[in-house]
Amino acid sequence: MSTNNLRFMRLLITAGPTHEPIDAVRFLSNRSSGRLGVALANVAARQGCEVTLLLGPGNCVPSFGPHVQVERFVTTAELESLLAKHWPERADLLIMTAAVADYRAAHPLPSGKIPRTGGRMMLELEATPDLVANCALRKLAGQRVIGFALESPENLERRACEKLDKKGLDAVVANPLETMDSETIRGMLIWADGRRCNPPATEMTKEDFAEWLVDQVIKRSSDK
Ligand code: C5P
Repeated sequence: MSTNNLRFMRLLITAGPTHEPIDAVRFLSNRSSGRLGVALANVAARQGCEVTLLLGPGNCVPSFGPHVQVERFVTTAELESLLAKHWPERADLLIMTAAVADYRAAHPLPSGKIPRTGGRMMLELEATPDLVANCALRKLAGQRVIGFALESPENLERRACEKLDKKGLDAVVANPLETMDSETIRGMLIWADGRRCNPPATEMTKEDFAEWLVDQVIKRSSDK
């Protein structure tokens, strides 16, 4: 496909972990680095897409080309607000690589620090809303939503297909637990019609995988 076909495609990409506060200094999170989402944003922008990257908390501040607009979030609630601002009106394709927390503290202490008492402590958690499933519900004709499934290798494909179905996605990238915080990925793309696409190598750098994935999803979106 020529770069011209991509020029007006608007991509919304989410990346990184969320931090869910317990008190003013502690939070629940995961080891997501955001590296794949950052690579996807840079590849898509280089190919002529207009890219908005919603990027979670982390120590590294990646560099971006001029066609990537970055907005930062910390919590699932902040990411939910940013998604509501951009989706479905301001993007054609949503790629949800963010490792959104599944649970958050039900009653975080808004200021100060929970004191150590020495005994056991119970922390009540509540489920977070399923952001990508809600975006899939709000999708307009011609829009696509792609999610990720991070699972142990023995259940990977089955669990990825369940998520694809349950969340109403157009496609899911199935990848094993080891992907998180790694420089490489062993991923596979599964479309809602059952088609499976494997990248040219079993294990790839996230940058190379991003090149392959952008090509796959954009080719498919322009086939509509
Ligand atoms: O259910 P699970 O967390 O394994 O699903 C992973 C996919 O769902 C990812 O695309 C992730 O961004 C998205 N997700 C979400 N909202 C949540 C949890 C996960 O959008 N609360």
